[in-house]
Amino acid sequence: MFDVTKIREDFPILKREVNGKPLVYLDNAATSQTPQQVIDVIVDYYSNYNANIHRGVHALSQEATDKYEQARHKIQKHFNAKHAHEIIYTSGTTHSINIVANGFSSFIKKGDEVLVSAMEHHSNIVPWQMLCERTGAVLKVIPMNQEGELLMDVYDTLLSQKTKLVFCNHISNALGTINPIKEIIDKAHAVGAVVLIDGAQAAPHLVADMQALDVDFYTVSAHKICGPTGVGMLYGKEEWLTKLPPYQGGGEMIAEVTFEKTTYAGLPHKFEAGTPNICGGIAFGAALDYMNAIGFETIAAYEHELLEYATDELSKIDGLKIYGTAKQKTSVISFNIKGVHPYDIGTILDKLGIAVRTGHHCAQPIMDFYKIPGTVRASFSFYNTKEEVDVLVAGVKRATAMLV
Ligand code: PMP
Repeated sequence: MFDVTKIREDFPILKREVNGKPLVYLDNAATSQTPQQVIDVIVDYYSNYNANIHRGVHALSQEATDKYEQARHKIQKHFNAKHAHEIIYTSGTTHSINIVANGFSSFIKKGDEVLVSAMEHHSNIVPWQMLCERTGAVLKVIPMNQEGELLMDVYDTLLSQKTKLVFCNHISNALGTINPIKEIIDKAHAVGAVVLIDGAQAAPHLVADMQALDVDFYTVSAHKICGPTGVGMLYGKEEWLTKLPPYQGGGEMIAEVTFEKTTYAGLPHKFEAGTPNICGGIAFGAALDYMNAIGFETIAAYEHELLEYATDELSKIDGLKIYGTAKQKTSVISFNIKGVHPYDIGTILDKLGIAVRTGHHCAQPIMDFYKIPGTVRASFSFYNTKEEVDVLVAGVKRATAMLV
């Protein structure tokens, strides 16, 4: 039985006040909050076994190495990757995408085509544009409709033998749309293209199965799933990770170094140069443990209830327009009030202790599509409540009365 009151006790930050009001944290798509269980793991690491990994014979180093590698196995199991060495620790989704975009310079040539969806985060646009600049490849866009759904029939017409890469987010951070990624992957594979799915926004809401999806690359940031910032994963099929060149050179990623020639370590270390975020990796595993103990199906069902309730209540406000009304969406509501700048709404909500995001959400092409400067984005997590939705709705009404 899901008991949100009990869940909230796990999150110390939810007890604090902001501007003299109880915090109502609705910026979960930007970053999630951290439960005590994960904070304890971080404190335990620095209190008891902080050491560098993979190279020490001493006890602390071995303990830290074991915990770090155990966490990699947890991540592998959670995402159902075939091998633990297909999980590369990174600093997050942005880093993960850059590893792949950089590596593909060796495989892409002038005139090749790469397809990106119209609703990407900048981190899944800019690295590919840089790849196109380096190689002369052409970037093409899978368009979307007013509801914020990809036009899959246009996708069909864009795919050809020239298509080498397709990249798309699993869930849009700005609109909440859940994209039909299995269909996107299968159709891309049918023309021989490689697919990267940005799972940054999906990981908090559902469990993506790497083998069932048959995806080539998948990226996650731990800070979106109750873990710390500065750590994440790049999943890559063994075949592709073996082919791709390393992204950074340095310690840990080598087999042997002489001044004449260096040979690289095998997977996953080839992509993990330097001292990694050891504590972060261990805490990433702990965050997955925490969320799995609640259960992703339970989380998704509860968040869906919040989404429906908030959508109904916000829609009653005069002049309020929601962007992103896809049939398949997660608990993100992007909206504007007619004639009011989103920043002004966000500022008033902050005075009331309500944390929302305002602006373009690192997805400027979506804002251009709707011809708006940005939106107010309320994004809900499993530790939010209907009462908090009521506080948001009352806050938006108050802001509207002041600004319109
Ligand atoms: N893609 C999406 C869909 C995101 O929501 C985010 C984070 N806002 C990113 C990529 C980038 O993640 P990070 O900043 O953790 O690298």
